[in-house]
Amino acid sequence: MESAIDMVTGEIIDAEQLWLIESVDKERYICRGCGAKAVPASFQPENVVRPYFRSTHNADCDVTGEAKLIVRGRQEKLGSKLTGFPAPYPSKLVLVDDRVVDDGGSGGEYPVPPRTRGGPRGRDSGPSDIQRKRSAGTIRPISRTFINYPYDRYLDLNVPGVDAKTYGQVFKKLKWDELVSYTDKKIFYAAMRWSVPLRTDDYLEVSLDGGEREAKKLVRPYRVRVAWGGWSKSKRTYVSNELEVARKDAISEAEKKTNKKAYLFFLGRQDHDDLTLFHVTDHRLICCLFDEIIWPKF
Ligand SMILES: [Zn+2]
Repeated sequence: MESAIDMVTGEIIDAEQLWLIESVDKERYICRGCGAKAVPASFQPENVVRPYFRSTHNADCDVTGEAKLIVRGRQEKLGSKLTGFPAPYPSKLVLVDDRVVDDGGSGGEYPVPPRTRGGPRGRDSGPSDIQRKRSAGTIRPISRTFINYPYDRYLDLNVPGVDAKTYGQVFKKLKWDELVSYTDKKIFYAAMRWSVPLRTDDYLEVSLDGGEREAKKLVRPYRVRVAWGGWSKSKRTYVSNELEVARKDAISEAEKKTNKKAYLFFLGRQDHDDLTLFHVTDHRLICCLFDEIIWPKF
């Protein structure tokens, strides 16, 4: 499976985030659905297969059917008023600054996955729905959920600093053919261009497929500048690796004429003087996913 819960922080982590951890603790992760041990695999940067978690799930685990659920979720709405949403999903971004290691003296017993900490209990969501809400420490699992369940974007999503409260409202695609001043804070996204990102000691700059066009030709693209001057080497490698893998996937996929693209997601600030430019300072607030994004016509 592609994500698990970190028992120490209680957050959902995507397997790709393992690239960021210098020495991966194999005892630290559990299945999001049933709490069974989840063992990180293929997480060395040189591994050909992308990172994932291996797990022997309990019989009633709802994550086991998740791959099937994702296939179905791209064709129809999965949630219902009566039963809520059928799988655990991130409903909240929580940025924890200091990771305190606390093993709590639990002697090898794997606890039930922690539920979303604090926060208001949904007025209109049943108890089962509340149990399926999790918090995420980066926008990655959240962006993945946005892609996987296009017909369920009414699901709750709480992101610090963002007023909107559902998946459908928190995410905003950058205009393909226009430079816009975006006044509300959102998780913005757009396909990456194929050009190699610009790298300096102070920042990484990625050019996006959107912005001012003249006769369909992009003349002033939106750009995302990641201020990585103060970052550790491993954080830089993690972000640039992720972009590079997705960029190459997109280039090789183009021949197949599918709708899959390398989408960049970020929570950033638009420059006051230059509408083409967005600033991102935190590695947890940017990610790149190679996939197709479906926009249902309701
Ligand atoms: Zn499980």
